[in-house]
Amino acid sequence: MSLTRRNVLKAAAIFGAGALDLGQVPAAEAASTDISHGSRTVAKVALTFHGAGAPDFADPLLKIFKSTGTKVSIFAVGTWLVSDPAIAARIIAEGHDLGNHTMTHTQMKTISAKKVDAEISQCAAELKKLIGNHGAWFRPSGTQFSTATIRAAAVKYGYGQCISYDVDSKDYLNPSKKSVISNVMNNVKNGSIISMHLGHKVTLDAMPTLLSNLHAKGFTPVTLTELLQA
Ligand SMILES: [Zn+2]
Repeated sequence: MSLTRRNVLKAAAIFGAGALDLGQVPAAEAASTDISHGSRTVAKVALTFHGAGAPDFADPLLKIFKSTGTKVSIFAVGTWLVSDPAIAARIIAEGHDLGNHTMTHTQMKTISAKKVDAEISQCAAELKKLIGNHGAWFRPSGTQFSTATIRAAAVKYGYGQCISYDVDSKDYLNPSKKSVISNVMNNVKNGSIISMHLGHKVTLDAMPTLLSNLHAKGFTPVTLTELLQA
């Protein structure tokens, strides 16, 4: 059974959030209850971005996405939205998904439940102020996978399961453009959720080649909403 958002929400409504994952997660991925990929039978992938950093890189990346008709998903850090409030409406207007990536991008595994709650709720409030809703998805900061505490708070604020990824571009390490491209192309599969970051020059430099390589291999980049729909 695929971990679609619709199924997740349906299961949450029927069984309660705590019972969501039993029986749904393949054995190899039992360590995580997060969503780390979509259907393996369709050649769609999701480029997902940590949303923070200087507009110098976000602006030209959004222009590349617009000119190539590419739809992506951006997980905004709340403080980034405060510093650049116009970006939220622009991301939505240009057809991308916008999600919650906590208020201050702290290491979420090491903070108290109260602080976890505040990190998620404050970013949700910022999104609601700017786009009228709390955003499509939630990804925790400082960890690839959520904890029970993080999941409980995410569900409390309406996000269902947390979004992880199965392909790490490692762009945040500022490697060569070639490395970023090979980190993705050597690991991408049908349904992959690819982790990338706004705010790093290499991400911008790699994007045109990365997009053309993905298309050459038959992959279509789509939003998480499209990737995870039933
Ligand atoms: Zn991040």
